[in-house]
This record gives sequence, C-alpha cells and structure tokens, in this order.
Amino acid sequence: MKAIIVKNLKKYYGAVKAVDDISFDVNQGEVVALLGPNGAGKTTTIEILEGLRKKDSGEIYYFDRKVDHIDKEIKKRIGVQLQKTAFFEYLTVQETVELFAGLYDMKVDKKTLKNLVELVSLGEKAKSRVKNLSGGQLQRLALITALVNEPEIIFLDEPTTGLDPQARRYVWQIIETLKKQGKTILLTTHYMEEAERLADRVLIMDHGKIIASGTVWQLVESLNMDSYIEFTV
Ligand code: ATP
Repeated sequence: MKAIIVKNLKKYYGAVKAVDDISFDVNQGEVVALLGPNGAGKTTTIEILEGLRKKDSGEIYYFDRKVDHIDKEIKKRIGVQLQKTAFFEYLTVQETVELFAGLYDMKVDKKTLKNLVELVSLGEKAKSRVKNLSGGQLQRLALITALVNEPEIIFLDEPTTGLDPQARRYVWQIIETLKKQGKTILLTTHYMEEAERLADRVLIMDHGKIIASGTVWQLVESLNMDSYIEFTV
C-alpha cells in the first residue's frame, strides 16, 4: 500500500505556477525529500497535503483512499510540524506539548509526554519556558508538534533551516529514529547533504515542477553536477 499518492496536483497564484501538475507517490515507511531552491513550490506542495492550503486541481490519496479534504481519520494519521514561531513563549515545553495534544483532542499522559520530550532530547528542558530555548531546541520542540498524535505519516518543512551544524545533526538523528520506527516521512529541504543522509528517494522541484527523481546517487549521475550543487548553498 502507498502511504501517499499525488496525481496532477496544481496550485497557481495568478501567473505564478507554484505547483504545476506534479505527480508522485510515497511508500509506507519511506523517507522522501523534496529538494529545491527558494520558490520551487516545496512548501505549497506539503501544505496542500497537510490540508493547510487548497489545491486548484489534482488528486491526493492517503493509504489508497482518495481524499478531498483532510477529514478526522486522516488528521489522526498525519503529523504536521508547526513553525518555530508558532509557540507561546511563556508556556513551558511540557505545557506546549499538552496544548498541541489538545488540538488533536488528546490528553498526553505522563509517560507519553516523557517519551516525546526525551525522543527530541528536551527531557531536561521540560519545565523551561519556550522563550528560554535555543534555536536548535525550539526546532526540536517543533518536531514534537508533528508527533503528538503518533502519526504514521510525518510532514517536515525545512526541519533544519537556520540551525548550526551540531543542532542540524541532532535533528537528523531524531528523523533517523522515526524512520527506524517505520514512520513515513515527506520532508522539504534546501540541503543536498540532508537529502542524502535522510532520504530513500529525492524529488527535485523547480518552478513548480518535479524535474528529476531517484536516489541521491542516481540523481548525481543523471544531472549536471553544477546545477545540482546550486541547491546545497
Ligand atoms: P522556500 O524554499 O523559499 O520556502 P518553496 O520551494 O517552499 O520555497 P513555495 O513557498 O511553495 O516555495 O512558493 C512557490 C511559489 O509560489 C513562489 O513563487 C511563491 O512566491 C509563490 N507563493 C507561495 N505562496 C503564495 C501566496 N500565498 N500568494 C502568492 N504567491 C505565493
């Protein structure tokens, strides 16, 4: 069974073809990276899949079921990562997790809460206020928002943008742990290195189109290296 199938997805903003007739699928347990430069259409694609933006046309299937809007059943099975800026700075890490669980009508028990904060190595920060977290710690807290409902599919939009190399590696390790747990992950990134380390398969987007797909090494062989390296800066 495919976790996600996207067929002929389109989203235009006036003359801007943000997502221009793309089709792809993601297997269960697979990590797929959408790699591309600024404005390629990565965020628009992922936000349509999350139900945060409306498509113009095209079809989306979750677990082989055609989905026209994100209903309750799908909402339970997908994890949406919020932006670092979406948090209330005076809440503690623990209160923040409880708040986001509440959005899914869930109450997190003590054990689940502990597991979540430990998974992202924020155990010692559970009682710290959001405003006192570093950028890397905030990004890891953002990861929790995609995990509170124990989803099967996790969407991560630029999970390491703006982080220093050490903080980035930390996030990578968490994503690798999630992969080992069998989660299906669709992430967007500007970093070739990140796609190479995390993704089973990479879809390269540019100007709303998927211009190449495959494993990183298949892509390196098939593409002009100069244009490829552009994505890494
Ligand atoms: P980045 O890596 O910078 O986040 P991206 O690949 O995620 O880029 P999108 O944010 O999906 O790209 O944007 C794709 C195109 O759609 C861009 O040209 C962008 O300016 C345009 N766009 C996105 N959202 C809107 C909007 N709400 N209104 C008008 N144009 C938009």
